Amino acid sequence: MAEKTEQQAGKTIHAGGEWLEAASGATREIIDPADALPFAVVAEGDEKDTDIAVAAARAAFDGSDGGDGRGSAGVRGEGAWPRTPVAERAALLRRVADLLLRDRERLGLLESRDAGKTVEEGRVDIDCVADAFRYFADLVAAEAPGRVVDAGTPDVHSVVVHEPVGVCALITPWNYPLLQASWKIAPALAAGNTFVVKPSEITPLTTIALIELLVEAGLPAGVANIVTGPGHTVGARLAEHPDVDLVSFTGGLVSGTKVAQAAAVTVKKVALELGGKNPNVVFADACATEEGFDTAVDQALNAAFIHSGQVCSAGSRLIVEETVRERFVAELARRAAKIRLGRGTEDGVECGPLVSEQQRARTESYVAGALAEGAVLRSGGRRPEPSATLPATGYFYEPTVLDQCHREMTVVREEVFGPVLTVETFRTEDEAVALANDTEYGLAGAVWTTDAGRARRVAGRLRHGTVWINDFHPYLPQAEWGGFGKSGVGRELGPSGLAEYREAKHVYQNLAPGPVRWFTG
Ligand code: NAD
Repeated sequence: MAEKTEQQAGKTIHAGGEWLEAASGATREIIDPADALPFAVVAEGDEKDTDIAVAAARAAFDGSDGGDGRGSAGVRGEGAWPRTPVAERAALLRRVADLLLRDRERLGLLESRDAGKTVEEGRVDIDCVADAFRYFADLVAAEAPGRVVDAGTPDVHSVVVHEPVGVCALITPWNYPLLQASWKIAPALAAGNTFVVKPSEITPLTTIALIELLVEAGLPAGVANIVTGPGHTVGARLAEHPDVDLVSFTGGLVSGTKVAQAAAVTVKKVALELGGKNPNVVFADACATEEGFDTAVDQALNAAFIHSGQVCSAGSRLIVEETVRERFVAELARRAAKIRLGRGTEDGVECGPLVSEQQRARTESYVAGALAEGAVLRSGGRRPEPSATLPATGYFYEPTVLDQCHREMTVVREEVFGPVLTVETFRTEDEAVALANDTEYGLAGAVWTTDAGRARRVAGRLRHGTVWINDFHPYLPQAEWGGFGKSGVGRELGPSGLAEYREAKHVYQNLAPGPVRWFTG
Protein backbone atom coordinates (compact mmCIF):
# COMPACT_ATOMS: atom_id res chain seq x y z
CA MET A 1 0.00 0.00 0.00
CA ALA A 2 1.21 3.49 -0.81
CA GLU A 3 0.50 4.67 2.74
CA LYS A 4 2.81 2.05 4.16
CA THR A 5 5.70 3.22 2.05
CA GLU A 6 5.05 6.76 3.22
CA GLN A 7 4.97 5.61 6.84
CA GLN A 8 8.31 3.94 6.42
CA ALA A 9 9.55 7.39 5.47
CA GLY A 10 8.16 8.76 8.77
CA LYS A 11 4.86 10.03 7.37
CA THR A 12 2.72 8.88 10.28
CA ILE A 13 0.52 11.94 10.72
CA HIS A 14 -2.79 11.56 8.91
CA ALA A 15 -4.84 14.72 8.39
CA GLY A 16 -7.59 15.35 5.87
CA GLY A 17 -6.79 12.13 3.99
CA GLU A 18 -3.05 12.82 3.57
CA TRP A 19 -0.11 11.04 5.22
CA LEU A 20 2.32 13.72 6.39
CA GLU A 21 5.67 14.19 8.06
CA ALA A 22 5.82 16.44 11.11
CA ALA A 23 5.77 20.09 10.04
CA SER A 24 9.04 20.52 11.95
CA GLY A 25 10.54 17.48 10.23
CA ALA A 26 11.21 15.87 13.64
CA THR A 27 11.07 12.10 14.02
CA ARG A 28 11.15 9.59 16.89
CA GLU A 29 12.56 6.07 17.03
CA ILE A 30 10.25 3.41 18.37
CA ILE A 31 12.04 1.06 20.77
CA ASP A 32 11.56 -2.68 21.24
CA PRO A 33 11.48 -2.98 25.06
CA ALA A 34 12.90 -6.53 24.89
CA ASP A 35 16.32 -5.28 23.72
CA ALA A 36 16.06 -1.47 23.77
CA LEU A 37 16.79 -1.33 20.04
CA PRO A 38 14.85 0.93 17.65
CA PHE A 39 12.75 -0.87 15.05
CA ALA A 40 10.57 1.88 13.52
CA VAL A 41 10.57 5.63 12.99
CA VAL A 42 7.55 7.90 13.28
CA ALA A 43 6.87 11.59 12.87
CA GLU A 44 7.24 13.59 16.08
CA GLY A 45 4.29 15.93 15.73
CA ASP A 46 3.71 19.07 17.80
CA GLU A 47 1.09 21.81 18.24
CA LYS A 48 1.30 22.85 14.59
CA ASP A 49 0.53 19.34 13.31
CA THR A 50 -2.25 19.09 15.87
CA ASP A 51 -3.86 22.27 14.55
CA ILE A 52 -3.72 20.88 11.01
CA ALA A 53 -5.38 17.62 12.07
CA VAL A 54 -8.07 19.36 14.14
CA ALA A 55 -8.85 21.67 11.20
CA ALA A 56 -9.28 18.59 8.98
CA ALA A 57 -11.58 16.91 11.50
CA ARG A 58 -13.57 20.14 11.93
CA ALA A 59 -13.94 20.54 8.16
CA ALA A 60 -15.08 16.93 7.76
CA PHE A 61 -17.65 17.31 10.55
CA ASP A 62 -18.98 20.60 9.22
CA GLY A 63 -18.88 19.76 5.51
CA SER A 64 -16.39 22.53 4.80
CA ASP A 65 -13.75 20.16 3.45
CA GLY A 66 -14.25 21.27 -0.13
CA GLY A 67 -16.29 18.16 -0.86
CA ASP A 68 -19.21 20.35 -1.90
CA GLY A 69 -17.07 21.98 -4.61
CA ARG A 70 -17.86 25.45 -3.24
CA GLY A 71 -15.14 25.66 -0.60
CA SER A 72 -17.84 26.87 1.78
CA ALA A 73 -17.35 27.37 5.51
CA GLY A 74 -19.78 24.51 6.01
CA VAL A 75 -22.68 24.16 8.38
CA ARG A 76 -22.03 22.66 11.83
CA GLY A 77 -22.59 18.93 11.79
CA GLU A 78 -23.45 18.71 8.11
CA GLY A 79 -20.38 16.88 6.85
CA ALA A 80 -20.62 13.63 4.93
CA TRP A 81 -19.97 11.29 7.90
CA PRO A 82 -22.42 12.73 10.46
CA ARG A 83 -25.04 12.66 7.69
CA THR A 84 -24.26 9.11 6.59
CA PRO A 85 -27.22 6.82 7.38
CA VAL A 86 -26.68 4.72 10.50
CA ALA A 87 -26.89 1.43 8.57
CA GLU A 88 -24.00 2.54 6.33
CA ARG A 89 -21.93 3.65 9.30
CA ALA A 90 -22.53 0.27 10.95
CA ALA A 91 -21.57 -1.55 7.73
CA LEU A 92 -18.28 0.35 7.57
CA LEU A 93 -17.46 -0.52 11.18
CA ARG A 94 -18.11 -4.20 10.43
CA ARG A 95 -15.75 -3.97 7.43
CA VAL A 96 -13.10 -2.58 9.75
CA ALA A 97 -13.62 -5.57 12.10
CA ASP A 98 -13.12 -7.94 9.13
CA LEU A 99 -9.94 -6.12 8.06
CA LEU A 100 -8.57 -6.29 11.61
CA LEU A 101 -9.07 -10.04 11.65
CA ARG A 102 -7.55 -10.35 8.16
CA ASP A 103 -4.42 -8.60 9.53
CA ARG A 104 -4.55 -10.25 12.98
CA GLU A 105 -1.10 -11.85 12.77
CA ARG A 106 0.64 -8.70 11.54
CA LEU A 107 -1.08 -6.41 14.04
CA GLY A 108 -0.69 -8.85 16.94
CA LEU A 109 3.04 -9.05 16.26
CA LEU A 110 3.33 -5.28 15.96
CA GLU A 111 1.53 -4.81 19.29
CA SER A 112 3.82 -7.38 20.88
CA ARG A 113 7.02 -5.64 19.74
CA ASP A 114 5.75 -2.16 20.47
CA ALA A 115 4.30 -2.76 23.95
CA GLY A 116 6.47 -5.73 25.01
CA LYS A 117 3.60 -8.17 25.44
CA THR A 118 3.58 -11.76 24.22
CA VAL A 119 2.41 -12.33 20.66
CA GLU A 120 -0.53 -14.36 21.95
CA GLU A 121 -1.60 -11.37 24.09
CA GLY A 122 -1.18 -9.21 20.99
CA ARG A 123 -3.46 -11.51 18.99
CA VAL A 124 -6.08 -11.56 21.74
CA ASP A 125 -5.95 -7.75 21.80
CA ILE A 126 -6.74 -7.65 18.08
CA ASP A 127 -9.70 -10.00 18.56
CA CYS A 128 -10.99 -7.70 21.29
CA VAL A 129 -10.49 -4.66 19.05
CA ALA A 130 -12.56 -6.33 16.30
CA ASP A 131 -15.23 -7.18 18.91
CA ALA A 132 -15.44 -3.50 19.92
CA PHE A 133 -16.04 -2.45 16.29
CA ARG A 134 -18.71 -5.15 15.87
CA TYR A 135 -20.38 -4.30 19.16
CA PHE A 136 -20.81 -0.60 18.40
CA ALA A 137 -21.91 -1.36 14.83
CA ASP A 138 -24.63 -3.69 16.14
CA LEU A 139 -25.62 -1.26 18.89
CA VAL A 140 -26.34 1.69 16.59
CA ALA A 141 -27.85 -0.48 13.86
CA ALA A 142 -30.42 -1.93 16.28
CA GLU A 143 -31.46 1.38 17.80
CA ALA A 144 -34.73 3.20 17.29
CA PRO A 145 -34.07 6.60 15.68
CA GLY A 146 -35.48 8.44 18.68
CA ARG A 147 -37.39 7.99 21.94
CA VAL A 148 -40.90 9.31 21.94
CA VAL A 149 -41.80 10.68 25.36
CA ASP A 150 -45.26 11.17 26.80
CA ALA A 151 -45.87 14.91 27.00
CA GLY A 152 -49.12 14.39 28.92
CA THR A 153 -51.31 15.72 26.11
CA PRO A 154 -52.26 14.42 22.65
CA ASP A 155 -51.55 17.90 21.26
CA VAL A 156 -47.79 17.51 21.65
CA HIS A 157 -45.39 15.14 19.91
CA SER A 158 -42.15 14.95 21.84
CA VAL A 159 -39.11 12.95 20.84
CA VAL A 160 -35.55 12.69 22.11
CA VAL A 161 -32.92 12.06 19.43
CA HIS A 162 -29.16 11.63 19.68
CA GLU A 163 -26.62 13.48 17.59
CA PRO A 164 -22.83 13.31 17.33
CA VAL A 165 -20.88 15.67 19.61
CA GLY A 166 -18.51 16.87 16.86
CA VAL A 167 -14.71 16.75 16.74
CA CYS A 168 -13.36 14.27 19.29
CA ALA A 169 -9.80 14.25 20.64
CA LEU A 170 -8.84 10.73 21.68
CA ILE A 171 -5.72 10.34 23.81
CA THR A 172 -4.49 6.84 24.62
CA PRO A 173 -1.86 5.03 26.74
CA TRP A 174 0.86 2.47 25.95
CA ASN A 175 -0.28 -0.66 27.75
CA TYR A 176 -3.14 -1.69 25.45
CA PRO A 177 -2.48 0.74 22.60
CA LEU A 178 -4.98 -0.45 20.01
CA LEU A 179 -7.58 -1.78 22.41
CA GLN A 180 -7.83 1.51 24.30
CA ALA A 181 -7.95 3.42 21.00
CA SER A 182 -10.74 1.18 19.68
CA TRP A 183 -12.92 1.72 22.78
CA LYS A 184 -12.94 5.38 21.72
CA ILE A 185 -12.72 5.24 17.92
CA ALA A 186 -15.49 2.67 17.39
CA PRO A 187 -18.20 4.50 19.39
CA ALA A 188 -17.03 7.92 18.14
CA LEU A 189 -17.48 6.76 14.53
CA ALA A 190 -20.69 4.83 15.24
CA ALA A 191 -22.20 8.05 16.62
CA GLY A 192 -21.13 10.05 13.53
CA ASN A 193 -18.24 12.09 14.92
CA THR A 194 -14.90 12.93 13.37
CA PHE A 195 -11.75 12.53 15.45
CA VAL A 196 -8.06 13.15 16.01
CA VAL A 197 -6.35 10.33 17.88
CA LYS A 198 -3.07 10.76 19.73
CA PRO A 199 -1.56 7.43 20.68
CA SER A 200 1.13 7.16 23.34
CA GLU A 201 4.37 8.44 21.85
CA ILE A 202 6.10 5.18 22.75
CA THR A 203 3.54 2.76 21.21
CA PRO A 204 1.89 4.43 18.19
CA LEU A 205 2.35 1.72 15.54
CA THR A 206 -0.90 -0.25 15.69
CA THR A 207 -2.99 2.93 15.91
CA ILE A 208 -1.31 4.16 12.72
CA ALA A 209 -2.15 0.77 11.17
CA LEU A 210 -5.78 1.11 12.25
CA ILE A 211 -6.06 4.48 10.49
CA GLU A 212 -4.83 2.72 7.33
CA LEU A 213 -7.60 0.14 7.74
CA LEU A 214 -10.24 2.83 8.26
CA VAL A 215 -9.12 4.44 5.01
CA GLU A 216 -9.20 1.05 3.27
CA ALA A 217 -12.71 0.43 4.61
CA GLY A 218 -13.86 3.62 2.86
CA LEU A 219 -14.10 6.25 5.60
CA PRO A 220 -14.30 9.74 4.02
CA ALA A 221 -11.15 11.88 4.18
CA GLY A 222 -10.84 14.02 7.29
CA VAL A 223 -13.00 11.81 9.50
CA ALA A 224 -10.12 9.80 11.00
CA ASN A 225 -6.95 11.75 11.80
CA ILE A 226 -3.87 10.86 13.82
CA VAL A 227 -1.04 12.92 15.22
CA THR A 228 1.94 11.00 16.57
CA GLY A 229 3.85 12.92 19.21
CA PRO A 230 4.23 13.64 22.92
CA GLY A 231 1.59 14.43 25.52
CA HIS A 232 2.90 17.82 26.60
CA THR A 233 2.64 19.18 23.04
CA VAL A 234 0.12 17.21 20.94
CA GLY A 235 -2.00 15.96 23.87
CA ALA A 236 -2.04 19.31 25.65
CA ARG A 237 -2.99 21.16 22.44
CA LEU A 238 -5.85 18.74 21.77
CA ALA A 239 -7.20 19.22 25.29
CA GLU A 240 -7.23 23.02 25.02
CA HIS A 241 -8.11 23.36 21.32
CA PRO A 242 -11.19 25.55 20.78
CA ASP A 243 -12.32 23.49 17.77
CA VAL A 244 -12.37 20.21 19.71
CA ASP A 245 -15.79 19.40 21.21
CA LEU A 246 -14.91 16.38 23.32
CA VAL A 247 -11.75 14.90 24.79
CA SER A 248 -11.61 11.28 25.83
CA PHE A 249 -8.44 10.37 27.69
CA THR A 250 -7.04 7.09 29.00
CA GLY A 251 -3.89 7.29 31.03
CA GLY A 252 -2.51 8.22 34.41
CA LEU A 253 -4.06 10.44 37.09
CA VAL A 254 -1.51 13.25 36.74
CA SER A 255 -1.94 13.68 32.96
CA GLY A 256 -5.70 13.12 33.22
CA THR A 257 -6.02 15.96 35.71
CA LYS A 258 -4.11 18.28 33.35
CA VAL A 259 -6.39 17.27 30.46
CA ALA A 260 -9.52 18.00 32.51
CA GLN A 261 -8.16 21.40 33.55
CA ALA A 262 -7.25 22.38 29.98
CA ALA A 263 -10.59 21.15 28.62
CA ALA A 264 -12.55 23.13 31.20
CA VAL A 265 -11.49 26.44 29.64
CA THR A 266 -13.53 25.73 26.50
CA VAL A 267 -16.17 23.62 28.32
CA LYS A 268 -15.48 20.47 26.32
CA LYS A 269 -17.10 17.22 27.17
CA VAL A 270 -14.53 15.16 29.06
CA ALA A 271 -14.21 11.42 29.61
CA LEU A 272 -11.32 10.12 31.72
CA GLU A 273 -10.23 6.51 32.16
CA LEU A 274 -7.48 6.65 34.75
CA GLY A 275 -5.59 4.31 36.99
CA GLY A 276 -6.53 1.73 39.56
CA LYS A 277 -5.27 0.07 42.73
CA ASN A 278 -7.39 -2.98 42.55
CA PRO A 279 -8.16 -5.33 45.46
CA ASN A 280 -8.37 -9.09 45.04
CA VAL A 281 -10.19 -10.33 48.17
CA VAL A 282 -9.76 -14.03 48.97
CA PHE A 283 -11.85 -15.66 51.72
CA ALA A 284 -10.58 -18.85 53.34
CA ASP A 285 -13.65 -20.82 52.19
CA ALA A 286 -12.53 -20.34 48.55
CA CYS A 287 -9.40 -22.35 49.44
CA ALA A 288 -11.17 -25.14 51.34
CA THR A 289 -10.66 -27.70 48.56
CA GLU A 290 -7.44 -28.34 46.64
CA GLU A 291 -9.18 -27.34 43.42
CA GLY A 292 -10.50 -24.12 44.93
CA PHE A 293 -7.09 -23.25 46.37
CA ASP A 294 -5.34 -23.91 43.05
CA THR A 295 -7.88 -21.78 41.16
CA ALA A 296 -7.67 -18.85 43.57
CA VAL A 297 -3.84 -18.87 43.53
CA ASP A 298 -3.68 -19.25 39.76
CA GLN A 299 -6.08 -16.36 39.22
CA ALA A 300 -4.30 -14.16 41.76
CA LEU A 301 -1.14 -14.75 39.75
CA ASN A 302 -2.90 -13.86 36.51
CA ALA A 303 -4.59 -10.83 38.11
CA ALA A 304 -1.27 -9.34 39.19
CA PHE A 305 1.26 -10.37 36.57
CA ILE A 306 -0.36 -10.55 33.14
CA HIS A 307 1.42 -8.07 30.85
CA SER A 308 3.92 -7.62 33.70
CA GLY A 309 1.26 -5.91 35.80
CA GLN A 310 0.98 -3.01 33.34
CA VAL A 311 -2.80 -3.24 33.37
CA CYS A 312 -5.11 -0.56 34.77
CA SER A 313 -7.26 -3.26 36.38
CA ALA A 314 -4.33 -5.37 37.65
CA GLY A 315 -5.14 -7.15 40.90
CA SER A 316 -2.12 -5.64 42.57
CA ARG A 317 -3.51 -5.81 46.14
CA LEU A 318 -4.08 -9.32 47.43
CA ILE A 319 -6.31 -9.11 50.52
CA VAL A 320 -6.41 -12.61 51.93
CA GLU A 321 -8.06 -14.08 55.03
CA GLU A 322 -5.50 -14.45 57.80
CA THR A 323 -6.10 -18.19 58.35
CA VAL A 324 -4.96 -19.14 54.82
CA ARG A 325 -2.37 -16.42 54.29
CA GLU A 326 0.83 -18.38 54.80
CA ARG A 327 -0.14 -21.28 52.55
CA PHE A 328 -1.58 -18.97 49.90
CA VAL A 329 1.40 -16.63 49.75
CA ALA A 330 3.93 -19.46 49.77
CA GLU A 331 2.29 -21.07 46.74
CA LEU A 332 1.84 -17.73 44.99
CA ALA A 333 5.51 -16.84 45.48
CA ARG A 334 6.62 -20.30 44.31
CA ARG A 335 4.61 -19.94 41.10
CA ALA A 336 5.57 -16.28 40.54
CA ALA A 337 9.24 -17.30 40.57
CA LYS A 338 8.53 -19.79 37.77
CA ILE A 339 6.94 -17.29 35.34
CA ARG A 340 8.99 -17.46 32.15
CA LEU A 341 10.23 -13.99 31.19
CA GLY A 342 11.54 -13.18 27.74
CA ARG A 343 11.00 -11.51 24.43
CA GLY A 344 7.26 -11.56 23.74
CA THR A 345 7.78 -12.86 20.23
CA GLU A 346 9.49 -16.07 21.43
CA ASP A 347 7.70 -19.36 22.01
CA GLY A 348 7.05 -20.35 25.60
CA VAL A 349 7.50 -16.85 27.02
CA GLU A 350 4.79 -15.99 29.56
CA CYS A 351 5.72 -12.38 30.41
CA GLY A 352 7.52 -9.76 28.41
CA PRO A 353 9.58 -6.80 29.60
CA LEU A 354 8.27 -3.57 31.05
CA VAL A 355 7.56 -1.00 28.38
CA SER A 356 10.46 1.36 29.13
CA GLU A 357 13.47 1.96 31.33
CA GLN A 358 11.43 4.66 33.05
CA GLN A 359 8.68 2.18 33.93
CA ARG A 360 11.22 -0.31 35.31
CA ALA A 361 12.96 2.38 37.36
CA ARG A 362 9.58 3.41 38.77
CA THR A 363 8.83 -0.20 39.72
CA GLU A 364 12.24 -0.60 41.37
CA SER A 365 11.75 2.54 43.39
CA TYR A 366 8.33 1.34 44.67
CA VAL A 367 9.82 -2.02 45.70
CA ALA A 368 12.77 -0.37 47.48
CA GLY A 369 10.36 1.98 49.28
CA ALA A 370 8.12 -0.94 50.34
CA LEU A 371 11.06 -2.89 51.77
CA ALA A 372 12.18 0.21 53.64
CA GLU A 373 8.65 0.52 55.06
CA GLY A 374 8.74 -3.06 56.36
CA ALA A 375 7.32 -5.25 53.54
CA VAL A 376 8.76 -8.76 53.31
CA LEU A 377 10.01 -9.92 49.92
CA ARG A 378 8.68 -13.39 49.05
CA SER A 379 9.59 -13.51 45.37
CA GLY A 380 11.29 -11.40 42.70
CA GLY A 381 12.35 -7.90 43.63
CA ARG A 382 15.15 -7.67 41.08
CA ARG A 383 16.09 -7.72 37.40
CA PRO A 384 16.54 -11.27 36.05
CA GLU A 385 19.95 -12.57 35.06
CA PRO A 386 20.50 -11.89 31.33
CA SER A 387 20.55 -14.98 29.11
CA ALA A 388 20.21 -15.96 25.46
CA THR A 389 16.48 -15.30 25.71
CA LEU A 390 16.70 -12.35 28.12
CA PRO A 391 18.79 -9.60 26.49
CA ALA A 392 20.72 -7.58 29.07
CA THR A 393 19.48 -4.40 27.44
CA GLY A 394 15.77 -5.35 27.78
CA TYR A 395 13.60 -3.77 30.48
CA PHE A 396 12.86 -7.00 32.37
CA TYR A 397 11.85 -7.21 36.01
CA GLU A 398 10.93 -10.31 38.01
CA PRO A 399 7.35 -10.81 39.22
CA THR A 400 7.48 -9.61 42.81
CA VAL A 401 5.43 -10.64 45.83
CA LEU A 402 5.59 -8.35 48.88
CA ASP A 403 4.16 -9.86 52.06
CA GLN A 404 3.10 -8.18 55.32
CA CYS A 405 1.98 -4.98 53.71
CA HIS A 406 -0.48 -2.53 55.24
CA ARG A 407 -2.67 0.26 53.98
CA GLU A 408 -0.36 3.09 55.05
CA MET A 409 2.44 1.90 52.75
CA THR A 410 2.99 3.90 49.56
CA VAL A 411 3.18 0.70 47.51
CA VAL A 412 -0.33 -0.22 48.70
CA ARG A 413 -1.82 3.20 48.02
CA GLU A 414 -0.24 4.19 44.69
CA GLU A 415 -0.44 2.53 41.29
CA VAL A 416 2.90 0.86 40.51
CA PHE A 417 1.98 -0.30 37.00
CA GLY A 418 4.56 -3.07 37.13
CA PRO A 419 4.79 -6.72 38.28
CA VAL A 420 4.37 -6.04 41.99
CA LEU A 421 1.78 -7.73 44.22
CA THR A 422 1.25 -6.61 47.81
CA VAL A 423 -0.32 -8.88 50.45
CA GLU A 424 -2.61 -7.66 53.23
CA THR A 425 -4.74 -9.78 55.54
CA PHE A 426 -8.15 -9.57 57.22
CA ARG A 427 -10.12 -11.47 59.88
CA THR A 428 -13.73 -10.43 59.21
CA GLU A 429 -15.92 -9.63 56.23
CA ASP A 430 -16.26 -6.01 57.36
CA GLU A 431 -12.50 -5.70 57.60
CA ALA A 432 -12.07 -7.15 54.09
CA VAL A 433 -14.55 -4.65 52.61
CA ALA A 434 -13.01 -1.72 54.49
CA LEU A 435 -9.55 -2.60 53.15
CA ALA A 436 -10.79 -3.16 49.60
CA ASN A 437 -12.54 0.21 49.54
CA ASP A 438 -9.66 2.08 51.18
CA THR A 439 -8.26 3.55 47.96
CA GLU A 440 -8.64 6.85 46.16
CA TYR A 441 -9.22 4.81 43.00
CA GLY A 442 -12.16 2.52 42.24
CA LEU A 443 -11.64 0.80 38.92
CA ALA A 444 -12.02 -2.92 39.61
CA GLY A 445 -11.96 -5.53 42.34
CA ALA A 446 -12.70 -9.19 42.96
CA VAL A 447 -14.03 -11.41 45.70
CA TRP A 448 -13.28 -15.14 46.02
CA THR A 449 -15.67 -17.18 48.15
CA THR A 450 -17.87 -20.26 47.93
CA ASP A 451 -20.54 -18.61 50.10
CA ALA A 452 -23.09 -17.22 47.63
CA GLY A 453 -24.61 -14.80 50.13
CA ARG A 454 -21.23 -13.42 51.09
CA ALA A 455 -20.26 -13.05 47.42
CA ARG A 456 -23.30 -10.89 46.75
CA ARG A 457 -22.95 -8.94 49.98
CA VAL A 458 -19.32 -8.08 49.40
CA ALA A 459 -19.80 -7.32 45.68
CA GLY A 460 -22.63 -4.98 46.65
CA ARG A 461 -20.40 -3.09 49.07
CA LEU A 462 -17.31 -2.70 46.85
CA ARG A 463 -16.94 0.84 45.44
CA HIS A 464 -15.36 -0.14 42.13
CA GLY A 465 -16.56 0.13 38.52
CA THR A 466 -16.16 -3.59 37.84
CA VAL A 467 -16.52 -6.31 40.47
CA TRP A 468 -15.66 -9.92 39.72
CA ILE A 469 -16.97 -12.80 41.78
CA ASN A 470 -14.69 -15.85 41.57
CA ASP A 471 -12.90 -14.47 38.52
CA PHE A 472 -10.50 -11.70 37.56
CA HIS A 473 -10.00 -9.58 34.44
CA PRO A 474 -12.74 -10.55 31.98
CA TYR A 475 -14.73 -7.69 30.51
CA LEU A 476 -17.57 -7.60 28.01
CA PRO A 477 -17.93 -4.98 25.26
CA GLN A 478 -21.64 -4.81 26.10
CA ALA A 479 -20.96 -3.95 29.77
CA GLU A 480 -19.75 -0.54 30.95
CA TRP A 481 -16.08 -0.11 31.90
CA GLY A 482 -14.81 2.72 34.08
CA GLY A 483 -14.15 3.77 37.60
CA PHE A 484 -15.39 5.26 40.83
CA GLY A 485 -13.35 7.98 42.54
CA LYS A 486 -10.09 8.99 40.90
CA SER A 487 -10.29 6.12 38.41
CA GLY A 488 -12.10 8.48 36.12
CA VAL A 489 -15.13 10.24 34.75
CA GLY A 490 -17.63 8.56 32.43
CA ARG A 491 -17.70 5.05 31.04
CA GLU A 492 -16.39 3.20 28.01
CA LEU A 493 -18.12 0.22 26.35
CA GLY A 494 -21.78 -0.67 26.75
CA PRO A 495 -24.56 1.78 25.87
CA SER A 496 -22.95 4.44 28.12
CA GLY A 497 -19.74 4.14 26.07
CA LEU A 498 -21.73 5.24 23.01
CA ALA A 499 -23.64 7.92 24.92
CA GLU A 500 -20.33 9.68 25.75
CA TYR A 501 -20.03 10.55 22.05
CA ARG A 502 -23.53 11.94 21.66
CA GLU A 503 -25.63 14.93 22.48
CA ALA A 504 -29.26 14.29 23.43
CA LYS A 505 -31.73 16.61 21.71
CA HIS A 506 -35.36 17.00 22.71
CA VAL A 507 -37.65 17.95 19.82
CA TYR A 508 -41.01 19.19 21.10
CA GLN A 509 -43.73 19.74 18.53
CA ASN A 510 -46.95 21.52 19.35
CA LEU A 511 -49.62 19.93 17.14
CA ALA A 512 -52.23 22.56 17.97
CA PRO A 513 -50.44 25.89 18.44
CA GLY A 514 -52.29 28.83 19.98
CA PRO A 515 -51.43 31.93 22.02
CA VAL A 516 -50.28 31.45 25.66
CA ARG A 517 -51.60 34.84 26.94
CA TRP A 518 -48.93 35.03 29.66
CA PHE A 519 -48.63 38.66 28.76
CA THR A 520 -52.00 40.28 28.60
CA GLY A 521 -51.21 43.60 26.84
P1 NAD B 1 0.10 8.81 30.70
O1 NAD B 1 -0.89 9.57 31.49
O2 NAD B 1 1.53 9.08 30.91
O3 NAD B 1 -0.15 8.99 29.14
C1 NAD B 1 -1.39 8.71 28.53
C2 NAD B 1 -1.51 9.52 27.28
O4 NAD B 1 -1.64 10.90 27.65
C3 NAD B 1 -0.30 9.45 26.35
O5 NAD B 1 -0.75 9.47 25.03
C4 NAD B 1 0.46 10.71 26.70
O6 NAD B 1 1.29 11.17 25.66
C5 NAD B 1 -0.67 11.67 26.95
N1 NAD B 1 -0.36 12.82 27.79
C6 NAD B 1 0.62 12.94 28.72
N2 NAD B 1 0.59 14.17 29.27
C7 NAD B 1 -0.43 14.84 28.68
C8 NAD B 1 -0.96 16.15 28.82
N3 NAD B 1 -0.46 17.03 29.67
N4 NAD B 1 -2.02 16.49 28.07
C9 NAD B 1 -2.57 15.62 27.20
N5 NAD B 1 -2.09 14.37 27.00
C10 NAD B 1 -1.03 13.97 27.75
O7 NAD B 1 -0.26 7.28 30.95
P2 NAD B 1 0.53 6.02 30.41
O8 NAD B 1 1.78 5.91 31.23
O9 NAD B 1 0.62 6.06 28.93
O10 NAD B 1 -0.49 4.84 30.76
C11 NAD B 1 -0.56 4.27 32.01
C12 NAD B 1 -1.74 4.80 32.78
O11 NAD B 1 -2.94 4.61 32.04
C13 NAD B 1 -1.94 4.05 34.08
O12 NAD B 1 -2.22 4.95 35.12
C14 NAD B 1 -3.14 3.17 33.80
O13 NAD B 1 -3.85 2.78 34.94
C15 NAD B 1 -3.94 4.02 32.88
N6 NAD B 1 -4.87 3.21 32.10
C16 NAD B 1 -6.20 3.24 32.42
C17 NAD B 1 -7.11 2.45 31.73
C18 NAD B 1 -8.58 2.45 32.08
O14 NAD B 1 -9.37 1.88 31.35
N7 NAD B 1 -9.00 3.07 33.17
C19 NAD B 1 -6.66 1.65 30.68
C20 NAD B 1 -5.30 1.64 30.37
C21 NAD B 1 -4.42 2.43 31.09
